[in-house]
Amino acid sequence: MERALRAEAASEVPCGECTACCTSSQFVHIDADETETLARIPNALVFPAPRSTDGTVVLGYDQHGKCPMLIDDACSIYPHRPRACRTYDCRVFVATGIDLEEDNQSAIAARARRWRFDVVDDTDRVAYDALRAAATLVRDRRDLTSTQRAVFAVRQYGKR
Ligand code: SF4
Repeated sequence: MERALRAEAASEVPCGECTACCTSSQFVHIDADETETLARIPNALVFPAPRSTDGTVVLGYDQHGKCPMLIDDACSIYPHRPRACRTYDCRVFVATGIDLEEDNQSAIAARARRWRFDVVDDTDRVAYDALRAAATLVRDRRDLTSTQRAVFAVRQYGKR
């Protein structure tokens, strides 16, 4: 996830049949440089991101909370899906011990809670404890979303 946050790689989440993050009323930000993605999304489905001056747009969702690019339970633009979708990793909540609390994301939270990490040696234990310790710095920051708190913890952990 550290590499994904630095835009060096996509997250490699074995989603299987799960589409929780595509059906949980999420606004997907798409940066102006994501031209391959933007070329595949009808203009009518995006709008300028609030307070953004750099051309970032937002892909919304329908009355059921579903991304309009999700068709027949699959992303219709998967090879060109937005960067935000490529880097999303619901395992971050279990890894940091930060629960996803937002009401409209309960399906993601339920799926995320099922992840388990194998801590097989001291190196794993040190890393796991360090990430949990980083999370304690923001665990009570109610001005941040759950996702922002979890991502902060990963970034903080990266500075260790
Ligand atoms: S663009 Fe694709 S991956 Fe992203 S939320 Fe929509 S359906 Fe899911």
